[in-house]
Amino acid sequence: MGAELEGGLQHRPRDAAAAFDNYATSRRGERKGARMGRPRFKSKRKDRPACKFTTGTIRLDDRRHIVLPRLGRIRLHEDVQPLVDAIAEGGRPGTAVGIDLGVKTLLVMADSAGEVREVANPKQYDQALRQLRKASRTVSRRRGRNRRTGQAPSRRWEKANAVRNRVHHRVANLRENHLHQATARIPAEYGTVVVEDLNVKGMVRNRRLSRRISDAAFGELRRQLTYKTQRHGGRLIVADRWMPSSKTCSRCGAVKAKLPLGGRVFECDVCGLVLDRDANAGHNLAALAAANGKTGTEVTGDPGPLMVVPKPRGAKQKTRTGRTRKGTGTRAAGATPRQGTETRDRRQDTRREQLALW
Ligand SMILES: [Zn+2]
Repeated sequence: MGAELEGGLQHRPRDAAAAFDNYATSRRGERKGARMGRPRFKSKRKDRPACKFTTGTIRLDDRRHIVLPRLGRIRLHEDVQPLVDAIAEGGRPGTAVGIDLGVKTLLVMADSAGEVREVANPKQYDQALRQLRKASRTVSRRRGRNRRTGQAPSRRWEKANAVRNRVHHRVANLRENHLHQATARIPAEYGTVVVEDLNVKGMVRNRRLSRRISDAAFGELRRQLTYKTQRHGGRLIVADRWMPSSKTCSRCGAVKAKLPLGGRVFECDVCGLVLDRDANAGHNLAALAAANGKTGTEVTGDPGPLMVVPKPRGAKQKTRTGRTRKGTGTRAAGATPRQGTETRDRRQDTRREQLALW
């Protein structure tokens, strides 16, 4: 590594500092989310070889070349014409789209013009389950590593394990590809994209849904939507977690008290609207963009495209504020980790609420 790479390596100490900071605040209980472990060294095997360029200007010279600070013009392996187009195109203001995320259908998009489109959920992991079971069975029948005795894995185990890993890898590739295809067009067509802020962490705690929810990769979906709207100069609005997008009637605005998870159709008791429940939620999210006045030319190229919109009306806020570290006992059913500050009923209620919203 010569001096010419300095610009690209400056992020290392900063990332390390952030990692230590996260670890420290998490230990003190001042950090939200899962507990953070001690920072680890980069792995030669697991981590993809990559570096960041954060200083200086970066631009695409043409479809085959990028200009990086200090390194200059570099030829790319990949044709980046789509990216060049996307940057040149800029934002397409005016219309907003509300996106409802789900397991049955991955995306239900309802735009402000009233059009509804769907993207199916291919459930890649489910598709590969049989294959994985078979591969895993073979692996278990080979002599693997034994950490206690220091026994090295047999060559047959290594081979069988490699077969299993390939299946996992393929699933991940298929998923990523599908998400990219699903999210590619959206920010190009709409100036404003509204998504819900899902409590994925909470939903994954549901034993019956966790695998499918993890397979749907909502986090990655949101990440892609975020940077892709940014790239197009659009705006991504994240609706408040407690906004009753599924329970509100998109025509008259009446809120239903309860909505069973099973019913796929929304029926309004007030005005009699009958609509697919996900489409209804999508319309509500799209309407949120209009209500916040965030549609229109004025947001194009806005530096801060990510914003969280507060709840529109009195939905109950049940998110816990503090986490008690003690009392996180293991429960036999393994459904919900014990939470010291809340009563059992309230926890159940929260879960039910999440499912209803879902
Ligand atoms: Zn209604």
